[in-house]
Amino acid sequence: MTTPQAVLIAGGGIGGLATAIALDRKDIEAHILERSNFAEESGAGIQLGPNATRVLRRLGVLDALEPQTFRPRAVWLFDGRTGKKLATVPLGDVAEERYGAPYVTAHRADLHEALRIVAADAPHVMLTSNATVTGIREDDGVSITGSDGMTWQGCALVGADGIWSTVRRWVAPDAIPAFTGATAFRSLTPRDSLPEPFSLPIVGLWLGPRTHLVHYPVRGGAAVNIVAVTEAGEKEEGWNNAVEQQTVLANFSRWTQTPIDLLDAAPAWRAWSLFALPAFPTWSRGRTTLLGDAAHPVLPYLAQGAGLAIEDAATLAELLQQIRAEPTQAFATYETIRRPRATRVQVVSKRLGRAYHLGDGVFSDLIRVSRNAILGLRGEEATLRGFDWLYGEPNRSG
Ligand SMILES: Cc1cc2nc3c(=O)[nH]c(=O)nc-3n(C[C@H](O)[C@H](O)[C@H](O)COP(=O)(O)OP(=O)(O)OC[C@H]3O[C@@H](n4cnc5c(N)ncnc54)[C@H](O)[C@@H]3O)c2cc1C
Repeated sequence: MTTPQAVLIAGGGIGGLATAIALDRKDIEAHILERSNFAEESGAGIQLGPNATRVLRRLGVLDALEPQTFRPRAVWLFDGRTGKKLATVPLGDVAEERYGAPYVTAHRADLHEALRIVAADAPHVMLTSNATVTGIREDDGVSITGSDGMTWQGCALVGADGIWSTVRRWVAPDAIPAFTGATAFRSLTPRDSLPEPFSLPIVGLWLGPRTHLVHYPVRGGAAVNIVAVTEAGEKEEGWNNAVEQQTVLANFSRWTQTPIDLLDAAPAWRAWSLFALPAFPTWSRGRTTLLGDAAHPVLPYLAQGAGLAIEDAATLAELLQQIRAEPTQAFATYETIRRPRATRVQVVSKRLGRAYHLGDGVFSDLIRVSRNAILGLRGEEATLRGFDWLYGEPNRSG
């Protein structure tokens, strides 16, 4: 039975589980209500920058995840039309030394399961599955209702229920995600069946007109995750819609053969329509706040949506510990700290997406040639330094 002191968390995805663990580490009770049975079924990979792994390590999650992670040595950038290698961003030991935490790739299900196991072991965390939050009421605490009529009470509520957040409808009813017109197709294939460069211990990033392709090892290196993004596709909610291989290939007809071979080799494909959410006035209403994709969904071009949710979790727990009796004050400070960073990541992700997708038309093609030249001229160290603002925060000790 929940005590009214518990912080209720709607949604037990990456952000919700990280928040519960972070609260536990501050001796604060947390109760997660998750609509599924805590199973992550998207079958996709995830990249976690040092900003995310630093927090996961402090929470005791990185150790649990370690056997399933992969540490890529670098990001290699290629031109998808010519196949030419354009640049290298060093990762591996170079990034770990620079930022004090590793850059890793993993399967989303492995990350989710590591978070779930750590949360289930945490003395102050309660996990309730098959609980869909439908209603919210505020009195001297917060009371939420589930779809089956159950109610739960707590001192505050965190909406970590993703881009289609129910809690956000209570906080900001006018904030509705809009389809960007882009789709991410993804597949997973055994690594030992692939030729180079797809089998190499790298993140491969191929840039093409209105398209790009990313591949990297997951499952400790046993499989390769492939994400092919196009500025086309259907507007569908959810991230697990089956799609024909021909539909994926049709978007890459102007690409050189090497990356096409990878798309050909990949078996089952799933589509993930990309939505964006315009900024809305406030993330909080009274004793309720939002976190992760519910507050600030981010396009995947910088691979940072989960990283931001994990950072949010640590900041929120820290503030709730400091101002325990006044969640509304803690939530206001949380938003003051987190909103500028989330906005910056959203803006940079969008800008990167535009730079990746150059080359459609004469003018765009000219800019593509300049982009490639600049990428080639900038040294490896300088390229990595460009990410200091992202991977160097939140600070190493905090
Ligand atoms: C193609 C693609 C690639 C990506 N790659 C990366 C990457 O490499 N690195 C990275 O950091 N990020 C990446 N992201 C972003 C990342 O997936 C999200 O930002 C992250 O999952 C957000 O976590 P969350 O906990 O806020 O939301 P979610 O992961 O969506 O979790 C929300 C949870 O809430 C539950 N829920 C929903 N409604 C209710 C309700 N009413 N009641 C109870 N429970 C509810 C859901 O079942 C779910 O478990 C990528 C995204 C895309 C589209």
